[in-house]
Amino acid sequence: MHYENTLAFAHDLDQQDQLRHYRDQFLFPQHQGKAVLYFCGNSLGLQPKSVRPALLAELDQWETHGVEGHFRGELPWMHYHKYLTQQSARLVGALPHEVVVMNTLTVNLHLMMVSFYRPTRERYKIVMEAGAFPSDQYAMESQVRWHGFDPADAIVEVAPHATPPRPSPKREGDVEGAALLGEGSPKEELEVSNHILQTNDILEAIEREGDKVALVIFGGVNYYTGQFYDLPAIAAAAHRVGAYAGFDLAHAAGNLPLHLHDWDADFAVWCSYKYLNAGPGGPSGAFVHERHGSNPDLPRFAGWWGHDEKDRFKMRKGFKPMPGAEGWQLSNAQIFSFAAHKAGLDIFDAAGMEALREKSLKLTGYLEFILDEVNRGKNRFQIITPRDPQARGCQISVLTDEHGKALYDFLSENGVVADWREPNVIRLAPVPLYNSFEDIWRLGQLLL
Ligand SMILES: *Cc1c(COP(=O)(O)O)cnc(C)c1O
Repeated sequence: MHYENTLAFAHDLDQQDQLRHYRDQFLFPQHQGKAVLYFCGNSLGLQPKSVRPALLAELDQWETHGVEGHFRGELPWMHYHKYLTQQSARLVGALPHEVVVMNTLTVNLHLMMVSFYRPTRERYKIVMEAGAFPSDQYAMESQVRWHGFDPADAIVEVAPHATPPRPSPKREGDVEGAALLGEGSPKEELEVSNHILQTNDILEAIEREGDKVALVIFGGVNYYTGQFYDLPAIAAAAHRVGAYAGFDLAHAAGNLPLHLHDWDADFAVWCSYKYLNAGPGGPSGAFVHERHGSNPDLPRFAGWWGHDEKDRFKMRKGFKPMPGAEGWQLSNAQIFSFAAHKAGLDIFDAAGMEALREKSLKLTGYLEFILDEVNRGKNRFQIITPRDPQARGCQISVLTDEHGKALYDFLSENGVVADWREPNVIRLAPVPLYNSFEDIWRLGQLLL
């Protein structure tokens, strides 16, 4: 796609953008009387204006009905998790009975591990990406130890090559990315490849560990580099060696179209407060493939909300799980955070994930173009996110030189909300629901 570094060009793209009015449905923090340039939707999404009335409605429901609110009113609390099911299923490409909203992300990760990491003396290894989000690293470590294994032996991390293989393997749709890569100096190419995992390396690691592998777990999109992994290929490789495949979609849900059922994932988890705009600490979603959801004998940790709803309130002994992902629930829903999550999901449904992705490709492409423009001949930073648009979502991570923190502070002082990761990475996420092309042009002006 052709881009220009002018305000007029950015305005044109905004005018052509069918989704531009969604920006008006969000509340922007202010900086010196103007909306900030918000590029942090990968960390905490902005507040939809519809969240406040949704929360007030639940306070009213409580005021009016007290405990009867579980059974009365427009959205009786008793079934609240179900009000989120259809939309969550569409978002991750699942059948409705394969998803449930419950708990928080790391909690759900552990609950899934209870069912899908049951190591034996022979098959006990976990293959995962090096540099996974710390909570996932800690969860895996503690699970491995809990089962009496040594993380140093049981956890196999796939890391990027020190030197990139040549020619670098291409994925479909890589033409644009390859052309851009070609423009860089050899040094740039080396550093870029240093941060990106090659799909072949992932598949080879799984194959190499073979029947020792109990579980392959990957983030959908890596939080640091923004790399979107080839999830169907990873799931297929895991299954070839007889292992389960699980995905942490914290940075993928609401960012890219996903097809968990067709990709044959065994389980997945995600959070709602990043791209899904449910607010701080928002609830998590979980996917359990129907071949497991329909198996009541699959070991799990149980609670009353996962028990067969027909006699949940008979308070009898003997756990009988609900069929599907609902059978993994423990507790009754946290209504306030679920209500905020629902308000956010309604917007996704109205906009449509495919349309959002289409805008996202242009928007992220424009950010990449602007960053390259302002960096031309200066080499103040390197983009470590894949250049291939198909191998990333709406995040660009830049690895800065020794003045990176100063650059980040300068941006903050000028009304840019971005994200700083030690030791020297700035993450920028242009979110198609509420970011504009003008936002990106303005960022570029500050970087000149
Ligand atoms: C954001 C994020 C988390 C955070 O976990 P919580 O339990 O919601 O605090 C965990 N894992 C990944 C990959 C994340 O991106």
